[in-house]
Amino acid sequence: MKKYTLNSPVSELSGVGAAREKQLSRLGIYTLRDLIYLFPRAYEKRGDIKLISEVIDDSVSAFILTVGTQVRSANLKRGLTISKFRAFDESGSVEISFFNSPYVKDVFHIGDTFRFYGKPSLSRGAVKLTNPKFDPVIEGVPLPSLVPIYPLTEGISSKFIDKITKTAFDAVINDITDPLPDNVRIENSLPVLSYALRNIHFPEDDTALGKALRRLAFEEMFAFGIGISLSARYKTHSEAVAFSPCDMKPFTSLFPYELTRSQKETVNDIYRDTVLKKENGITPQMARIVVGDVGSGKTVCALAAIYIAAKSGFQAAMMAPTEILARQHYSEAKRIFDSLGIKTELLLGSTTQKEKKRIYESLKNKETDVLIGTHALITDKVEFNSLGLVITDEQHRFGVAQRATLKDKAKKAHMLVMSATPIPRTLALTMYGDLDVSRITEMPKGRIKVDTFVVDETYRDRLCAFISKQVENGGQCYVVCPAIEDAEEEEGFSPTSLGGELLKSSLNLKNVKDYTDILKQKLPHLRIESLHGKMKAAEKDAVMQRFSSGETDILVSTTVIEVGVNVPNASLMVVENADRFGLSQLHQLRGRVGRGTRKSYCVLVSDLNTEKSKSRLEIMRTTYDGYEIAEKDLVLRGPGDFFSSESTMRQSGGFEFNLAKLCDDKDLFEKAFAEAKALVARDPELIMPENQEIKKVIEKIMTPQASTIS
Ligand code: ADP
Ligand code: MG
Repeated sequence: MKKYTLNSPVSELSGVGAAREKQLSRLGIYTLRDLIYLFPRAYEKRGDIKLISEVIDDSVSAFILTVGTQVRSANLKRGLTISKFRAFDESGSVEISFFNSPYVKDVFHIGDTFRFYGKPSLSRGAVKLTNPKFDPVIEGVPLPSLVPIYPLTEGISSKFIDKITKTAFDAVINDITDPLPDNVRIENSLPVLSYALRNIHFPEDDTALGKALRRLAFEEMFAFGIGISLSARYKTHSEAVAFSPCDMKPFTSLFPYELTRSQKETVNDIYRDTVLKKENGITPQMARIVVGDVGSGKTVCALAAIYIAAKSGFQAAMMAPTEILARQHYSEAKRIFDSLGIKTELLLGSTTQKEKKRIYESLKNKETDVLIGTHALITDKVEFNSLGLVITDEQHRFGVAQRATLKDKAKKAHMLVMSATPIPRTLALTMYGDLDVSRITEMPKGRIKVDTFVVDETYRDRLCAFISKQVENGGQCYVVCPAIEDAEEEEGFSPTSLGGELLKSSLNLKNVKDYTDILKQKLPHLRIESLHGKMKAAEKDAVMQRFSSGETDILVSTTVIEVGVNVPNASLMVVENADRFGLSQLHQLRGRVGRGTRKSYCVLVSDLNTEKSKSRLEIMRTTYDGYEIAEKDLVLRGPGDFFSSESTMRQSGGFEFNLAKLCDDKDLFEKAFAEAKALVARDPELIMPENQEIKKVIEKIMTPQASTIS
């Protein structure tokens, strides 16, 4: 028999040819490990069998039925065919139809029994099933009661993934080693990895699935916690360069406004750390995070730090998580610094080779004082002459590894991190490690509150008119949808307390492409563009640029616009399927409007009618403070939400959570973090034998875009 390992390419599995291989790669699956770590996004409860006579509404159910008549096929109009037969149980009979599936006549023979799963329709006492899913009932072969639903890509069915996952799992079961140290696992009553993996894919029952989820979520948070703890050891107490005393007036006088009290305090903190502070005669490295709500004005503080560095003759680097943001910072910085004789450059992944070379040279020669960019800024070729300050914006979106690389380049530089993630105070300590914290607690004066409305589908026409009116009045509008394009919808429940909600809201997901088309039809006089993560960076930038300059009226987008974008003329933020987003995320999105002088609005569209979803959106309507929202969300939804921006994380090569984001168990989260911290305290270099497996996991997650074929 062939020997497989976790690293074997999926193409070695029987049934996976070149076409399948390509489809799987679109799901990020190259190896058996990838396959085994592709977790179901939901499960179908096919185990609760109903009788036909028990059908009272159209809720999805499972039935065990015996085929009673031959399959008859008929051609309908437009090439549509229908195949029908009747099937029965002890309580009654149903008509079963399949569209465009003539092969079913070879599947269903009179007298054979199947388990059917689908949405019954009920009219005048007669029950019908259309396109149900089915499993043959075979003596002695138990049918799984929970059937996994996998994320899909075009051409690949959940059933297919289920099948090859089974093969893969059986082939490598002995190759699976458990990264959780035994003591940690036992202490927290968690099952071993192979049990967890088996039950997440092929759950024995609800309880086993619950255990599996807990275990895997714990592992993710534990590994992340170790990563954070390792990289949060910023405070090396090592020596850094000392900045010189300087007058801030020439800098501050360039702004049309006065700094708020918190902004002043933050700048003072930075000044104290880098200019005044001495320990045993040396300047210890600053490791400070500036935390402030969206729009609270963190950028000025960052620029102030750069000003102090430049005035002291040191270079500064500032990293943003996206090109759009980097450009924005650059234009603001350039405006200020040009007049102060401080030379600023922009370095992006998309910068031409020639231009890059010129910038590299100018950095080495110290002709450039300030470099702003994306993670292109940390590639090996960038060499500074005298780097004294490194700033990262929206830090949680960066891969831990990227920060580490940067740190390597900047052994004696001060570190400043800017974060708009309103991490609840209860979690802040664990998240920030031992960074010093400056908090910006108030908004700049004159900010107008963004009126927030929660509406459902019945408002569709009015919403459209409202969008149009905003534009007529000279404003611009964002529309955020959860999906990029129409994907195959499947039903199922998600295995957490959020389950029912995820199920219902996953139906009728609005997607950017269709939405843009529909809006264009409805509002043909407006200029509408779309933006999403699958577009090339240059294309995204161009779209954003046109919106920013007012050439476009409406931007239909996924959450790629979430982070930091500043278009002061935008006056309306519409979020579709608002129930799909974390409150903190909604708050970030809302923060994109109300940045200028225009009266601004946020409309949250949701058709989900559950208590939980209603109370969550109600928080958005009544609360405007990011921290308060975060605290309330933590209570309602659990800590996973703070890691839920997976698409952005994936793009920036950062950490990605599969299960922790679904975890609604705050205790588990805190336990995992506490264990992680304790482990790093015990074994800061991760050299103990029992920590070798988890070390591998962390190395993997700390390597951006790790190619998984080894
Ligand atoms: P964030 O904290 O989200 O990064 P920004 O730094 O982008 O916020 O600031 C948001 C907006 O507020 C910018 O347009 C900026 O010019 C403005 N701003 C910042 N500080 C002040 C202030 N003290 N008074 C008035 N406006 C300010
Ligand atoms: Mg910002």
